[in-house]
Amino acid sequence: MDMDLVIRGGEIVNADGRFSADIGIRGEKIVQIGGEMRGPEIDARGRTVLPGAIDAHVHLTMPQVPEDGVAWADDFTSGSEAALAGGITTIGNMTFLLPDESMFAGLEREAALARVEAIADVILHPVIGDPRQAIIDEIPEIVAAGHSDIKFFMSTPTFDRNATGYLKATAEAGKNGALTLIHCEDYPIIEQSIERLLAEGRESLRNYPESRPIISEVVATQRAVAFAEYTGAPVYIVHLSSRRAMEVCQEAQARGAPVYVETRPLYLHLTSERFLEDDGAKYVGQPPLREPEDVEALWAAVANGSLHTICTDHAPWKLVHKLDPALHVGNLRPGMENLQTMLPMLYSLGVRTGKITLERMVQATATNVAKLFGLYPRKGTIAVGSDADIVIWDLKETRTIRDEDVLSRAGHSIYNGWEITGWPITTLRRGQVVYDNRRIVAKPGSGKLLPRGLTQAL
Ligand SMILES: [Zn+2]
Repeated sequence: MDMDLVIRGGEIVNADGRFSADIGIRGEKIVQIGGEMRGPEIDARGRTVLPGAIDAHVHLTMPQVPEDGVAWADDFTSGSEAALAGGITTIGNMTFLLPDESMFAGLEREAALARVEAIADVILHPVIGDPRQAIIDEIPEIVAAGHSDIKFFMSTPTFDRNATGYLKATAEAGKNGALTLIHCEDYPIIEQSIERLLAEGRESLRNYPESRPIISEVVATQRAVAFAEYTGAPVYIVHLSSRRAMEVCQEAQARGAPVYVETRPLYLHLTSERFLEDDGAKYVGQPPLREPEDVEALWAAVANGSLHTICTDHAPWKLVHKLDPALHVGNLRPGMENLQTMLPMLYSLGVRTGKITLERMVQATATNVAKLFGLYPRKGTIAVGSDADIVIWDLKETRTIRDEDVLSRAGHSIYNGWEITGWPITTLRRGQVVYDNRRIVAKPGSGKLLPRGLTQAL
């Protein structure tokens, strides 16, 4: 058969196994795997071929610049560039709403940016800051329009006052086949912890872990689990960080509760003593870095499948803004860039070390994400009929992560200097080569805002 492009001779690794075969692409789709095919070729012999990853959790937009004038450093263009260089072809952006803005209006405001700026494909998650009835009433319509999830934070000062509204929103999302994403940290415990550190004159970010203790994550995770069990609606715990919170989820899963868990690389590679370094403030994320036993528990949970997805929570700040001396435990710029290095680091430090298989890495960064966010089988796997989102890897190439190579406008990586083996060489998004030989070769506006189906149980 005649193809627009043939990827010749690579080893394909999907979540359910691996095999060597040619891949035939026509237009944006994979139309044949194996067998006779002709057309322009990419030679992938000796390479490994993975489905494009889906990072469902990134922050590339702020609806309003904060009072201090310092916003996240990326937009859909620079975020896409970092993603594609890192083997990620779809990104899920958190869409914060303006006060009094409807979810539809907020999603449309961000969709307009994505259409012009994005190179990777994009999905949007509306973040509910006020679960008033008008917002809850919008849920069926936004799901029908292809946005099949909502997100909220338990860590905000207004969560408890609005908890009934959030419970109703979770139920409504579930009823409509949508997923509810929850940031699980308990505000009262955080607030009291910060107050005590300030009173003791210990507000330095060296003490950051004490301001958001593990029990604040545990109690919020228990509550999220209870929301899932009471309503029957699936919940998705974002960026889970601790062994104890993981156990809360595993116990709920054993009872059959629809509880899905995400972690991010921060909690798989680093521990809390980092905050004692001179520039330790650069590691501040919410929740904080934890202890070695937590890291071990999270890797074990990825390996046994009770932890379902790994996403970056990419929240890019320039280093000077992370190290701003005005910051303290009660005044944070949480998060960091991570799109370009998440997958190579998972491979290098997770797969090569034997903690997880490459198939499990693909499952946690592509297939499971596609299913939970209503994109499967269009995305998340290499199969006939799927979008040709394909990443050709050299699993033997060793590179040192360097600030000067960072495509995010954050301009630095907290992993600067780490030696990592296994990197994407060529990335295709919907059949088009978008990254090749360390260069982005596609234009802003070529990324698509993807309409989504309903969430699929794992
Ligand atoms: Zn986030």
